[in-house]
Amino acid sequence: MFENLSDRLERSFQLLKGQGKITEINVAETLKDIRRALLDADVNFKIAKTFTDDVKEKALGQNVLTSVKPGQLMVKIVKDELAELMGGTSADIDLTGSPSIILMAGLQGSGKTTFSGKLANLLKRKKGRHPLLVAGDVYRPAAIDQLKVLGEQIGVPVYTEEGNMDPVKIAQSAIKEAKRQGHDVVIIDTAGRLAVDEQMMKEISAIKKAVNPNEILFVVDSMTGQDAVNTAKEFNDRLDFNGVVLTKLDGDTRGGAALSIRSVVTKPIKFVGTGEKLDAIDVFHPTRMADRILGMGDIVSLVEKAQEQYDEEEARRLQKKLAKNTFNFNDFLKQINQIKKMGDLKDVVSMIPGMGKAVKNMDLDDDAFKHIEAIIYSMTPAEREDPALINGSRRKRIATGSGTNIQEVNRLLKQFAETRKMMKMVSQGKNIQRMMGGMK
Ligand code: GDP
Repeated sequence: MFENLSDRLERSFQLLKGQGKITEINVAETLKDIRRALLDADVNFKIAKTFTDDVKEKALGQNVLTSVKPGQLMVKIVKDELAELMGGTSADIDLTGSPSIILMAGLQGSGKTTFSGKLANLLKRKKGRHPLLVAGDVYRPAAIDQLKVLGEQIGVPVYTEEGNMDPVKIAQSAIKEAKRQGHDVVIIDTAGRLAVDEQMMKEISAIKKAVNPNEILFVVDSMTGQDAVNTAKEFNDRLDFNGVVLTKLDGDTRGGAALSIRSVVTKPIKFVGTGEKLDAIDVFHPTRMADRILGMGDIVSLVEKAQEQYDEEEARRLQKKLAKNTFNFNDFLKQINQIKKMGDLKDVVSMIPGMGKAVKNMDLDDDAFKHIEAIIYSMTPAEREDPALINGSRRKRIATGSGTNIQEVNRLLKQFAETRKMMKMVSQGKNIQRMMGGMK
């Protein structure tokens, strides 16, 4: 996410290295570089200029008051300004009303249908809501089917009216149905077009008028950069929407849409989509995003993700097993699954401060666990319970069964034994120093 911009900004800050304080002269080159970085990230020219002007003013103003190094000061100011540019604070969606009505708008292919599913899933799992999804794209039967499939995956009903070509009527009937069945949120997916088009705008305006939604969310593909910003403007002029959903941020190396959209339409980015899977949705936090752009990681989101997946009872059980030295390969598999549930591994690791750059070019994804899992699945239940059983001939069998080789099996067994030893020492409160010595 935004790798190019992160790299470029970091290089801009380097220009201040060795400077004692920020002056009008020595900061000029850095500012020029930052502006270029923003332009290359597909940020609108006017926004980039205002941005660097603000940064300059702050840098020169704060300069006298502080003893931090110019490079650090600049990072801090740029970080604050980036967060400000993206809206400053995060913005909630309005879920009042019974039911609360959320209308989706956006071009075809922007990720509207996928996002409708993701949002329904999020509201169901995290907020205990009972959403109803509504298939309002009457022109593409495939879109209706897609929503039905998503609904099935997350266990959320989908309201459709086969053959009815009037999305306004469908939306109205869906809301009546939702009331009857006690749904407290209605999410209406609508038809998009490949480009902004009068017919589409008329249709969605009519739906808006008829159902008076709590929220109109405009969904846009972040990878389209300035086009995304222009489309947002056109939709906002017609619909006066409440918030933006930026999808496909996982593939966006530049970040232009994320940085520009807020100041062009003066509406907050409320959610981001970070992958094709149904849990790849995040509430948008401008300050955390600014931290990530500057390679400072996003430790708050990381901790939140970990907490969501953290099963306290399971953790207590594991601790007991560790203390008794009965931690086995079945427990190990469970741990791997917990980590995998946290999402794309690279994404998770990049939230650790300082790690973003380190993992950028690494081949680090869920596949990282594939061999380990294959090896463990090739063990018999008895072997998983008691790894001491695994002798030479069993190792050979496991290697063949898992499509790996004997070295990999040996390595895993050795690592497992060491982990177990170390964990035992930790849980028994042994001298940490001795433990560290033992690891070398
Ligand atoms: P719609 O025409 O606006 O309803 O768009 P869809 O929901 O059908 O999405 C279009 C394509 O984008 C599909 O292949 C989705 O899987 C994909 N997509 C949607 N959101 C994301 C995202 O956040 N990241 C990635 N990588 N792909 C996404």
